[in-house]
Amino acid sequence: MSILYRSTRGQAPELDFRGITLTGLASDGGLYVPKTWPEFSPADITAMKDKPYLEIAQQVLRPFVAPLIPDDALRGLLQKAYAGFDDAAVTPLKQLDDRHWVLELFHGPTLAFKDVALQLLGHVFEYFLDRSGERMTVVGATSGDTGSAAIAALANRKNIDVFILYPNKGPSDIQRKQMTRVDAPNVHAVAIEGSFDDCQAIVKALFNDPALRAKYKLAAVNSINGLRILAQMVYYFVAVARMGGVKPVSFVVPTGNFGNIYAAYAAMKCGLPISKLAAASNRNDILTRFFNSGCMKAEEVQSTLSPSMDIQISSNFERLLFDLCGNDGAAVRKLMQQGEFAVTPVQLATARQVFTAARADEDLTLKTIQDVYRESGYILDPHSAVGVAASRLLARELPDPVICLACAHPAKFPETIHRAIGVTPPLPAALAALLQKPERTSLLPANMQAVEKFMAERVK
Ligand SMILES: *Cc1c(COP(=O)(O)O)cnc(C)c1O
Repeated sequence: MSILYRSTRGQAPELDFRGITLTGLASDGGLYVPKTWPEFSPADITAMKDKPYLEIAQQVLRPFVAPLIPDDALRGLLQKAYAGFDDAAVTPLKQLDDRHWVLELFHGPTLAFKDVALQLLGHVFEYFLDRSGERMTVVGATSGDTGSAAIAALANRKNIDVFILYPNKGPSDIQRKQMTRVDAPNVHAVAIEGSFDDCQAIVKALFNDPALRAKYKLAAVNSINGLRILAQMVYYFVAVARMGGVKPVSFVVPTGNFGNIYAAYAAMKCGLPISKLAAASNRNDILTRFFNSGCMKAEEVQSTLSPSMDIQISSNFERLLFDLCGNDGAAVRKLMQQGEFAVTPVQLATARQVFTAARADEDLTLKTIQDVYRESGYILDPHSAVGVAASRLLARELPDPVICLACAHPAKFPETIHRAIGVTPPLPAALAALLQKPERTSLLPANMQAVEKFMAERVK
């Protein structure tokens, strides 16, 4: 039995796994979610305790991709995707103190958690395109890490052109260089004179134009792509299994576009024992305000020390909203068209049974990096520090044990780390080599026509 996927806005055709992987945003502007969720029993989960990452990944992903990707092919894709990770555990779990663990998600080629999903996505794209002989164009918006991870995953793939839009002033120096110093003719990093939300709006506008979508065969690598969510579910299973697989675990997730934390929620829907999910935000605290008030209202984006979370419009929240609305696509459509909206007190209470949220400003982020370094010698990157800060603020709400997600390697943010603890974390060798290459980038105004013209001139 294969799982079908439906749009959160109820007006797009249902698609299979191949369809959602190669499309991204649904034609009605919604996001694809599985119509049914596979169930993993407590016995299935405890049996994962000592299994290697790849085996758990295969088990978790199998029901979502079958029969389009047969089991042996899935195994091969997973092997290729994670061969380049510098830790055999792929996402190792480290104990911080008596109740806190960190799940390190930064052992892939660009040192951020985006690699976990995008390395797999690159191989799955190629698998499907090789079979159909098609080409496609990937367009993505990034606040820093998605772009570099997408470029690392898709550089030099023969049937894909890649355009990555990033806010001209957003990414850290290293994040920008990871995008612009990749020497691959199919890759185009484009700086936009605007914010991440402007970049994301351009990408959405391209996808919402049926003629352009067809002309370029657009595919998404943002976390609106359903495969990214599925691939990220795996490490929640791995983490719970490593803790024994029986006792529910709380997760604290540094949150921007709500993709990573939604993957945890999706894992929970498949039976994973999770007691609480905490969304951690920086000063861009729209989600913290939502989980406190039930009102979703964007404010001006502010630049912070954790740039990958400098987002006010969290696309994947729509997937949760779809559940809160009882899977009623028309209701989701109505709320999303309003832009600003409030859920009912009952919907808020339902959300709060699973979710909680807290925010950390710049001072608290720096202080958390200092405190954790002093207490344990562990160096948190600024995004992971926002998470650990939130876990401390929410201590009374989060049942033990608490796993904080470490979303990026501290070496990606050397100035901030140095400012906090006076130490510069050494850059891994592969990244140091990349930074020697010449920079290739273009600067465009924040408008869709300019971006489309740029694409038209470059697509093969
Ligand atoms: C992308 C990213 C986030 C935010 O994750 P979402 O899935 O967008 O919520 C947080 N931290 C780092 C380091 C990231 O790269």
